[in-house]
Amino acid sequence: MKNAWIISDNSLNIEDLLKNESIFNVSNGYIGIRGNFEEGYHVNYPSIRGSYINAFYEEAPILYGEKAYAFPETTEKVVNVTDAQNVNIIINGEKFSLFHGTLKSLNRYLDMENGCYVRDIWWVSPKGLELKIKITRLASLKHLELFAINYEIEKVNFDEGIIIESEINGDVTNFTDENDPRVAAGHANILSVKSMAFENDTMQIVSVTQNSKKHVAVTTKHSVSVNYEVSHVEEDNKLKAIYKTEPGKKIINFTKYNVYTDSRRYENIEIKGIELVEKISCEPFKKLLEQQRGYLNEFWSQADINIEGDEKLEKGLRYNLYQLLQAVGKDDKSNIAAKGLSGEGYEGHYFWDTEIYILPFFTLCYPELAKGLLKYRYTILDSARQRAREMGHKKGAAYPWRTIAGKECSSYFPAGTAQYHINADIAYAYIQYYLATGDIDFIKDCGAEVVFETARIWIEIGHFHKGKFRIDAVTGPDEYTAIVNNNYYTNVMAKYNLKWASKLYYELLGSDPELLKNLCSKINLQVEEIESFVCAYKNMWLPYDEELKINAQDDTFLTKAVWDFENTPKQKYPLLLNYHPLTIYRYQVLKQADTVLAHFLVEDDSDTQTIKNSYDYYEKITTHDSSLSCAAYSIMASKIGYLEKAYEYFIDTATLDLDDTHGNTKDGIHTANMGGTWMAMVFGFAGLRIKEDYISLSPKLPEHWSELKFKFLYKGAHIQVDAKKDRTDVTIQCESPIKLKVNNIIYEIVKSEKIEIVN
Ligand code: BGC
Repeated sequence: MKNAWIISDNSLNIEDLLKNESIFNVSNGYIGIRGNFEEGYHVNYPSIRGSYINAFYEEAPILYGEKAYAFPETTEKVVNVTDAQNVNIIINGEKFSLFHGTLKSLNRYLDMENGCYVRDIWWVSPKGLELKIKITRLASLKHLELFAINYEIEKVNFDEGIIIESEINGDVTNFTDENDPRVAAGHANILSVKSMAFENDTMQIVSVTQNSKKHVAVTTKHSVSVNYEVSHVEEDNKLKAIYKTEPGKKIINFTKYNVYTDSRRYENIEIKGIELVEKISCEPFKKLLEQQRGYLNEFWSQADINIEGDEKLEKGLRYNLYQLLQAVGKDDKSNIAAKGLSGEGYEGHYFWDTEIYILPFFTLCYPELAKGLLKYRYTILDSARQRAREMGHKKGAAYPWRTIAGKECSSYFPAGTAQYHINADIAYAYIQYYLATGDIDFIKDCGAEVVFETARIWIEIGHFHKGKFRIDAVTGPDEYTAIVNNNYYTNVMAKYNLKWASKLYYELLGSDPELLKNLCSKINLQVEEIESFVCAYKNMWLPYDEELKINAQDDTFLTKAVWDFENTPKQKYPLLLNYHPLTIYRYQVLKQADTVLAHFLVEDDSDTQTIKNSYDYYEKITTHDSSLSCAAYSIMASKIGYLEKAYEYFIDTATLDLDDTHGNTKDGIHTANMGGTWMAMVFGFAGLRIKEDYISLSPKLPEHWSELKFKFLYKGAHIQVDAKKDRTDVTIQCESPIKLKVNNIIYEIVKSEKIEIVN
């Protein structure tokens, strides 16, 4: 077993149990199962026993004390679905548990090369019977509906038969926490059992959500390597298959195949579940493992990054990329939730996190998956149009701040709906995808419409004043400053959105006028509107402070008092859990990168000195209370030459969940930060930028590293970068010409070649 691919934790500390449930989740973009123990813990130990299906949600009412016009009435909340994890081993009346008897050894790990999570145990029961048990589980990357558990059991010092009890449990509730706004406060009881059935050796529970009547089925079948007698037991909302195995056989192999089917994906979930389980359970567990390995081989051959000189960070980065693969939705109903499929934090919602922090990785390494994520936004464009009307806008689309199926689910509008920048973020991601892949067909199919509709929203909410286009009453990325006029980030991203809307319009007018005509008539887009886009972006007001020579975060930010950091004790962070929002809003204090992030995304709108001054200014007043912050600071520290700082911020991003530095990994991993780690590496240390007709690199390695190697795709070309302290080698395999800029020199690549640059 190669240590570089293994994440392990063998402690059974009670205070780490919840965190490790998130860390060891097994997911595949469709289903996600937390790393609970099959047999459970000691009674009263904390646990969030969770299984989730991406985009399978309940519509739950939002209760307001004071409700105003156009406040969302319901939220879409991910559902903790039927629990198929339960397996108990009983020997001579004694139940196997890690919390009694004696543990001779325990090895608990996630294997990122083989796509599984393992507990390898040598256990002695209180009466002295010894078992070696290796429990391996996986969420299949080939059969997305499958969650499988395998037990390899060796009877060390006895011969009697053992009992294996396997249960599926429909008695499940969602996790709630009244005191943490990052976790849902209500609606624990969502799912109830509708029917339960045993058919031959197959068990099935069908459950239904309380309000929206969505259905989910879990269909389970087993394979047992020795002779046995089986009995079936039906209890309250639970089905149990009890296998009594024959005496004598030393080694027993047991596999539990659980297939999840849901009514958002399938018409007849019962029949589909049975069909799938019949088919898949013919494949031995070994074969499922081979499939995982095959899939991951391919994944890592593109995604892996090598850092010479820093194994811990390399592994942290690997873990983060692995989790992104586990989290990414692979159909057009699903996206990537803020916590992936590893927990219930933020209710399974999708945010701007996807477009700004996660898509870059997929766009440059897995354009097909990136396309799927963008396509999802297209499928909810109608809801975004509807939301725009609700918000009083005559035209355009207003994407929800947080959602699953397209409805705005934010009940706190100052840090939710007011974040109009999400519209520009989505448009930005479409354009970056286009620039990186050259996939004009996708722009014609979906992208142009999204970019036009989002551009319209700026005309709706902005206005001209003394010749400048201004956007009032919005919130930027920094959620510690709310409802302001002319947030720099929002304005500069809106400018990009408007500029590209007009660019695409004129490009399509030249290249495919028929398509443009049809699209314009579909959304009733007039050329006068395009002219208004041009006028708005050319005159966009971008706040700048002459004295400090920085971009002001908004029109009034710099006039506020600076937060008293010196007298704020450590335990008062994150501020959002310890101060009323209004207290926070009155001060210059940032939850996360705002202007600094804008300076990365749209770097050509500011000069280098302003970028540096702004970094110096905002860094001092940023708390990084949001996990989305450090990556942006790392990238920009690299850009302006603060390599030590870039490295420190990078460390924070690479190990945020593994070390639980934000203290809330129990609610799920932080997927935006995980994408951010990759960005800090590739956009930060390697200085990669996607420009309009070329891609550029300017590697600068931190002191401790001797080499950084990674791969990406650009317009169909496979590019491998090998950066060392004194030289950079770039190997390009391409079929059509591309332009590449390395350390300010442009190379026109017409055929596959390797370029070697001395730094
Ligand atoms: C951040 C947002 C982010 C959300 C979900 C919040 O803490 O401030 O920017 O979208 O978490 O990750």
